[in-house]
Amino acid sequence: MNESCESGEVLFLQPIWDKLDSHRDLLSSPFFPVMFSFTANLLACAPYLLLDAMGPSWPFFHRYKMKPHYSIKPCTVTRCLSRISYNHSLFIFPATLLCRGLRSESRLRQAPSVPQLLTGVTLCLLLFDLLFFLWHLLHHRVPWLYRRLHSLHHQHSSTFSLSAQYAGVWEILSLQLLAVASPCLLTCHPLTEMTFFLLNIWLSVEDHCGYDLPWATHKLVPFGLLGGAPYHELHHQKFQCNFAPYFTHWDKLFRTYRKPSRGQPDDRETAERSRSGRGVARR
Ligand SMILES: [Zn+2]
Ligand SMILES: [Zn+2]
Repeated sequence: MNESCESGEVLFLQPIWDKLDSHRDLLSSPFFPVMFSFTANLLACAPYLLLDAMGPSWPFFHRYKMKPHYSIKPCTVTRCLSRISYNHSLFIFPATLLCRGLRSESRLRQAPSVPQLLTGVTLCLLLFDLLFFLWHLLHHRVPWLYRRLHSLHHQHSSTFSLSAQYAGVWEILSLQLLAVASPCLLTCHPLTEMTFFLLNIWLSVEDHCGYDLPWATHKLVPFGLLGGAPYHELHHQKFQCNFAPYFTHWDKLFRTYRKPSRGQPDDRETAERSRSGRGVARR
């Protein structure tokens, strides 16, 4: 998908691209991808962490919390932050250095048009969603893969924003690779790629945030195309359903879709199954 624009077309995104291009030294720094990912994740989590901290004293927001009685302990926040820092510094940083070395840098002076950017981001999300769905299904179908590589992410049967990145090294690296591969395979413009990365981080945090807010992305997209936090929360509780990260069509097609319903899930059963490695999907 080549995104070069025909001359004469008004490019609304050109000033943004010119501004970013003027910071080329920063963008091509070996530290940029890891700092981008780390900072974007924390910024996406910040509003939800604030809601968690305020709890019932902010009733307007608290009524949208999916498990109103679940409060996040400071030690859980610290453990998640340590894990995220550990993964980023020891694994994501060297992996991005390797990717940079393998990828040839192309310098584009022209920004994509708005329709090109929107199409590119949508296609990236659809491709990433499919790749993640297959990866996720496999890691629940094969007991060894679940126990050794995916069960750490399921330690949080009740999700909160930081649990989006709470995962083992293999999981984090493979999902980062799928995220990087999607715009590469579709030969997207760097601005489209950056927008996709930001949206990907946002949707992933939203999936785990623990709130079903009226302005959440899955409520803004029609026809139930996106599952959102209730859909992914159900995956953390039941294990054998809702494997796709964002869209619902693959789960519907593979008959693994389960519609979230309001109600108190059995956390004790979920926690026990997660601890014992019984999060493997039944066929
Ligand atoms: Zn899972
Ligand atoms: Zn999750």
